[in-house]
Amino acid sequence: MAYHKRLPTVRTCAHCHASFEAAHKARLYCSNSCNTLACRARKPRPTPDLPARAAAPPRRAPGPAASLPLDVQTLTVVAAGHLLGQAAWNVGAYVVEQFALPAPALLPPAPALDRKASLDQLVARYVPGLAPGPTDAEPPAEP
Ligand SMILES: [Zn+2]
Repeated sequence: MAYHKRLPTVRTCAHCHASFEAAHKARLYCSNSCNTLACRARKPRPTPDLPARAAAPPRRAPGPAASLPLDVQTLTVVAAGHLLGQAAWNVGAYVVEQFALPAPALLPPAPALDRKASLDQLVARYVPGLAPGPTDAEPPAEP
């Protein structure tokens, strides 16, 4: 049996009622979007009820302001804390004083930086066979 391509027939979209050429006999809608919209219209989906947001736990009610009894024990603890803090501060100051670098005015002046000499020293030190190259300050003399 020979295959005969079906001729497109003019139909009316079942959703938007526009006329369109259907290449297949089962085609009902003019487009995929009409198919989707018709499907959604057939099966209305109510928006799911979102669970109510859980109420935040109530904040702890502020209690009475903390107060310390004014007695010998409290005063002793407070005084000891104060003395310990002072001692720690003094220790830190001593350490800083002992290990801090001297002021820049007390350091000897830095030698003048000669990059070419430094490079030659490095070459002479780490590459024994290689003599230092000619200085780039003066070009080779022409005869
Ligand atoms: Zn349509």
